[in-house]
Formats: sequence, structure tokens, C-alpha cells
Amino acid sequence: MATIELKNVHAEVADGDEQILHGVDLEVQSGEIHALMGPNGSGKSTTSKVIAGHPAYEVTEGEILLTLEADDFDGIEEIPEDARSWNLLELEPNERAALGVFLAFQYPAEIEGVTMTNFLRTALNAKIEERDELLFGEGEEEEEEEEAGYETSPMEGPADEGEVGVAEFQQLLQEKMELLDMDEKFAQRYLNAGFSGGEKKQNEVLQAAILEPTIAVLDEIDSGLDIDRLQDVADGINALRDEQGTGVLQITHYQRILDYVEPDTVHVMLDGEIVMEGGPEVAEQLEDKGYDWVREQAYNAA
Ligand code: ADP
Ligand code: MG
Ligand code: MG
Repeated sequence: MATIELKNVHAEVADGDEQILHGVDLEVQSGEIHALMGPNGSGKSTTSKVIAGHPAYEVTEGEILLTLEADDFDGIEEIPEDARSWNLLELEPNERAALGVFLAFQYPAEIEGVTMTNFLRTALNAKIEERDELLFGEGEEEEEEEEAGYETSPMEGPADEGEVGVAEFQQLLQEKMELLDMDEKFAQRYLNAGFSGGEKKQNEVLQAAILEPTIAVLDEIDSGLDIDRLQDVADGINALRDEQGTGVLQITHYQRILDYVEPDTVHVMLDGEIVMEGGPEVAEQLEDKGYDWVREQAYNAA
């Protein structure tokens, strides 16, 4: 079981000194669903970005720790003891992702003519290689091969040892798309080929299903979805938790998606701090009373 723990996290914009987060404490374990709610501008997206290591933000105080247990990754029987505790703030974004911390990535706009399938397989293999290097210090051999010029095209080439090959990946993808109840044709589409808002959100859940993160951060995945698509996306999130044991930090302004993805814990953020926590009933109270009520509660108590 993996745990991610934010302790007293202060963060500011990297190229300025405006402080955005003023001491965020938050803990998410694999298999749990946490909702992070708050009004616009309260610091929710900044929280997700400092977890992922976005270069636009600098953590000026506090810690973000990741703890892994011996069997946190499918296909890895035992993680060496000295590779079970990580200070995420010392790791690059791709290293955090390799250790199972997921924040959806945007497809690079400049890539043309690459299918979702190829792109996702490349992302998965890059993640596996980086992960094994971090956990076991492997991968030097492959680097030598690359230096010697043996590298094949990452999109089309045959699988290197330890990589997920084309046929194996097709099967994995099919399983995941069934799990998420997605149309198979989806994966054959080209990146950036005019996905609708709803399709982009489904895509985000598919990325998470393929990469099998221990902790997934989903930022406003419910925004702009009609009710049918919201239901599909919610089913997908529940499947991540139920079938893969993924821990989910579900960032949302609105209570609506929480009717379909029931959180174990709701955290409410105001002005860069978490000021209220509780069970699903907190989200319902918010629905009734709004964020002004939280503000009153928080500042009367303080
Ligand atoms: P939320 O996701 O809750 O709407 P954000 O984390 O996006 O909030 O933003 C929190 C506050 O920090 C806002 O006042 C926003 O304007 C400010 N902020 C966020 N990112 C930047 C940035 N890169 N540069 C300047 N201000 C920023
Ligand atoms: Mg400061
Ligand atoms: Mg936001």
C-alpha cells in the first residue's frame, strides 16, 4: 500500500514571490478516494502541480513524502527496503510518475500522425524503465546500447527486453478499455485529432488505467461533462480504485461527481490551506451552504 503525504507544504510561483500554498497537510493512501474541494483560486491546481513537480512552482517549506510497500507494483515481488521511502521534492517529475504518482499529461501538440495506442505504449515503457532504474538501479545496459546507436524508433520498433511489446500492449489496452467501458476505436485515433471535452477526460482516465499508478491526482475531471459522460468517467475512477487499488485525489469545485465517486475523505481548501475535513457529508453541506459557509466556519474558529 502506497502513501503520499504532504506535510506543511508552502509553495510559491517559481519566478515570483507570491505565496499560494500556506501549509497544506494531506495524506492519501492507495485504495482510498479523497476529494479536494474549494472555490476558484484557492490553490487546488497548485497542490496537484507541486505533487507532480511542475517547474512553475517552488516549494519553500514542508515535505512531500511517498512511502511504498514491498509489493506495490504489479509484477514486482519485492521492492528493496532502501527504495521504499522517497522525498518527492528531490525527484524530477518523470521520476515521480515512474514511482506511481499520476497527474494526467497533455499530449504534446507538435506530435502528428501518432495513434493513442503507440503513444500510450511508449509512455508505459518509459515509465517501467525509469521505475526499475529508481527501485533497482537497473537500466545502464540499455543506456549503453542507446549510446552505441542500437536504439530503434520508440513508436514503431520491436520491444527491448523488459518492455511491453506491441501484441502484449494491445491486449492490455483492450482489457483496460473494457474495464472503462470505452469504445475500442478510441485507441486507434490520432493524438490531438479533435477530441471533445468529454473524450479528453475519458482519455485521462485511460492514461491512468494503462500506467497503473499507486496514487492518481485528477484535477477537475468533471468540468464540462454532460451527465452521461460524467457517469462514464466516474465509473472509470471507481474501477481504478476497485480493480487496481489506485488511490485517488479527486480535485473538484462541485459536489456533483461525488454522487458517483464516493470519497472516503473530503478536504476543503481556502486561500492555500485546508480548513475543513470530513466524510462525504462535508460535500453535501457544501452543496447546501456554499463556500461562504466554510469561510465563516474557518475564520470564526481561528
Ligand atoms: P484553483 O485550482 O483552486 O482554482 P490555483 O491553484 O489554480 O487555484 O490558483 C491559486 C492562486 O494562485 C490563484 O490566485 C492563482 O491566480 C494563483 N496562481 C496559480 N498559478 C500561478 C502562476 N503560475 N503565476 C501566478 N499566479 C498563480
Ligand atoms: Mg515564501
Ligand atoms: Mg484549478
